[in-house]
Amino acid sequence: SGNDPRPPLQLLIAAPRGFCAGVDRAIEIVERALQKYGAPVYVRHEIVHNRYVVDSLKAKGAIFVEELDEVPNDAPVVFSAHGVPKSVPAEAERRKLLYVDATCPLVSKVHRQAERQIEKGQHILFIGHEGHPEVIGTMGQVPDGQITLVETVEDVATLPFTQEDDLSFLTQTTLSVDDTREIVEALQAKYPQIVAPKAEDICYATSNRQAAVKEIASGCDLVLVIGAPNSSNSLRLVEVAQRMGTDARLIQRASEIEPKWLEGVGTLGLTAGASAPEKLVREVVDRLSDWRVVTEEVITTTEEKMVFKLPRQLTE
Ligand code: SF4
Repeated sequence: SGNDPRPPLQLLIAAPRGFCAGVDRAIEIVERALQKYGAPVYVRHEIVHNRYVVDSLKAKGAIFVEELDEVPNDAPVVFSAHGVPKSVPAEAERRKLLYVDATCPLVSKVHRQAERQIEKGQHILFIGHEGHPEVIGTMGQVPDGQITLVETVEDVATLPFTQEDDLSFLTQTTLSVDDTREIVEALQAKYPQIVAPKAEDICYATSNRQAAVKEIASGCDLVLVIGAPNSSNSLRLVEVAQRMGTDARLIQRASEIEPKWLEGVGTLGLTAGASAPEKLVREVVDRLSDWRVVTEEVITTTEEKMVFKLPRQLTE
């Protein structure tokens, strides 16, 4: 009404945002495993990097652990969407554990490429962020010493290989599209012989979410990205917005928003990383409405239709 003391806020919501097909599938795998085998179902590593998702599954009987030796012999275990080194299923088989692999099919695709490149005698330069579980998983597909991590353009300069070496490269699926292009260009300049992956390894969901936030960021005074601090694709969304010259912040929940962030903000952009449920987006809109009269506009840069099949052991 005309007497509403709340100032207006134009909210631009990026689309696509939030859950990707790999995250959807991983969560459904845990839910179906709980139905089929009964609680508890162990999950090695956060199934996806989102505390809300993890807590919801815990409430249904999932137990999250970091390593396989925390899983008892008689309980089923699910491997997270990020993928695992080869040693993990090997150990599960040795112990005769019942396991379900929730590795995203797009991560598995990179794993298979890594194996093929090694079979061809190539040394792999793997572009990714040290310590991320996907990086540990992909590097663990091949024997030690046959894959080298490259994190930055500066790293390329210090690589010890020559133009005579058989080299190929692969990348993590959730990298910055723009940063990765620069690193690949540096690799190709130093090693013109380097073999590229058949198709880009950065996944459709990562590129689409980055393109969508790019579309809204320049018109916003502030961009909020819903995601976890250990979620690679969410961190990249914050960077993309910041590089457009717009203030951007990563938040896990609406309760983290401080009213002073909104001072002088007339247009606010909102997006969510691939592991953040839409429920958290609505929670943020509701919170903003406590302070402002919010007008929502969804800016869609592309439609996504990707769906991945579940593992057969859970559909039979
Ligand atoms: Fe798969 Fe991409 Fe989603 Fe990761 S972000 S789970 S690679 S679709």
